[in-house]
Amino acid sequence: MSTIAVNLQAVEATITAAAAVSGRPRSAVQLLAVSKTFPAEAVLEAMAAGQRAFGENYLQEGVEKIADVARAQPAQSTQSSEPVEWHFIGPIQSNKTRSIATSFAWVHTVERLKIAQRLSEQRPPEMGLLNICLQVNISGEATKSGATAAELPELARQVALLPNLRLRGLMAIPEPQTDPALQRAAFARLRALGEDLRADGLTIDTLSMGMSADMEAAIAEGATIVRVGSAIFGHRNYD
Ligand SMILES: *Cc1c(COP(=O)(O)O)cnc(C)c1O
Repeated sequence: MSTIAVNLQAVEATITAAAAVSGRPRSAVQLLAVSKTFPAEAVLEAMAAGQRAFGENYLQEGVEKIADVARAQPAQSTQSSEPVEWHFIGPIQSNKTRSIATSFAWVHTVERLKIAQRLSEQRPPEMGLLNICLQVNISGEATKSGATAAELPELARQVALLPNLRLRGLMAIPEPQTDPALQRAAFARLRALGEDLRADGLTIDTLSMGMSADMEAAIAEGATIVRVGSAIFGHRNYD
């Protein structure tokens, strides 16, 4: 078995155990394999092991990889297995939204209405609705990205009205913590913000939270998507 297949099995076991501890079904948590900095061959290896959802942070790299994987899988649509699903999880520059809207099924990192409006305008209708998570700055000063908790209700209401998007929920990258109690506290804040939006009448179903180092705490607090990179693909080399 390839290293990636072995790592996927280990991550699968971690997710299954963490879900069981919280009394949640395994099917309530989707594994997003974060393939940034790794080549299309790594994605194909993970696909051979059954993985279908992949996350990319850097637009140019992601778009090229999507094309490379599609070329290597020409008969995908006729295979019985589910098609591969690409999620954009990196910072968004407003002049790069078109390529995101035409290449990805999900975007996890929307933090401003202007970006959401552009994504909606530029989404080709034949691709179906673009799934959106709003990124929230859950750790205050520590991280710069994300809408504040105060901005969130109005942003969510506006995004939910855009025609070619489907608002799915919230995403956060909390400040790294080694203490599981502190990890959980940050994820609990995101969960509470999601509950507030539901109480406002929005039909959201997604909490994108948890990475290699804190996925168990995230699952305990209700994560529906964990974004896992290094635990699957290994150490990243940014050179
Ligand atoms: C890189 C990245 C991940 C994966 O991080 P690991 O620690 O390698 O699991 C998850 N989410 C986002 C937004 C990332 O940029």
